[in-house]
Amino acid sequence: MYEKETEQLQEIIDDSSRIVFFGGAGVSTESGIPDFRSADGIYHQKYRYSPEQVVSHSFFMQYPDAFYEFYKDKMMVLDAKPNPAHLKLAELEKAGKLSAIVTQNIDGLHQAAGSRNVYELHGSIHRNYCMRCGKFYDAEYVKNSEGVPKCSCGGTIKPDVVLYEEGLDQKTIQGAVRAISRADTLIIGGTSLVVYPAAGFIDYFSGKHLVVINKSETAKTVRAELTIAAPIGEILERIEVR
Ligand SMILES: [Zn+2]
Repeated sequence: MYEKETEQLQEIIDDSSRIVFFGGAGVSTESGIPDFRSADGIYHQKYRYSPEQVVSHSFFMQYPDAFYEFYKDKMMVLDAKPNPAHLKLAELEKAGKLSAIVTQNIDGLHQAAGSRNVYELHGSIHRNYCMRCGKFYDAEYVKNSEGVPKCSCGGTIKPDVVLYEEGLDQKTIQGAVRAISRADTLIIGGTSLVVYPAAGFIDYFSGKHLVVINKSETAKTVRAELTIAAPIGEILERIEVR
C-alpha cells in the first residue's frame, strides 16, 4: 500500500534542501503516547473533569493535586521510544536536508531520536521549574514525586508545558515562523491542525512542496501537493536519505 504516494514523497524530498516538518499528536501515538485530548471512557471513569479542563492554567493553580495526578499518569510517558518517523526526521536533518521540526508534542522524542533544531510549541515535560525560585527539575523528579512536586525551597514546581489559557512562548513562535517561511518543503504530519494557533503557522509557508501525512482527515483545508492518509512512521520509514 501507498507505493505511489511514497514514491512521490521520495521525489519531493530528493528535490528539497530546507524541509520543515510540522508535527502533531499522531507522531507520538505511534510511540505509544496517547493523545490526551481523545479522552475515552476510562478517563471519565477515573477523573471528574475533562482533559481540557485539567490541563488548564486555572485548574493547575486551583487543584495542583488533581492536575498532577492526571498529568503524571496520562501525559508523562517516560519510557516511550522514538519511532521510525522521529528517526527518519533526525536522519534528514543530519544529512542537511531538513532545517527544523516544529512540534505540538511535549514528549521530547525528536531530541531523543537525535534531532537538534526542534521548536516545541507546547513546551516539554522534560523541563520543570520552581514557581518561587526558578530552580530546574527533570521529568524523573516530577514523575517520581509524591503528589505535587515541591522544590527544595518549598515552592511548587510547574512543568514548562503550555497549558490551556496560557500563551505560547514568543521566541519559539518566532523561530518556528522563520523556519517555515524559509522552507522549500513543508511536511505536516500526525495533526488535524485544529489546535489554535498552530493551524495559523502553515500560512507562513511559501515554498515549493506542501505535503500532508495524517491517518485521519485534516480538518483545515490545506492545498497540499501530496496527501497521504497513513500513519506517519509507516511512510517515512520507507524514505531514503540521499
Ligand atoms: Zn524553589
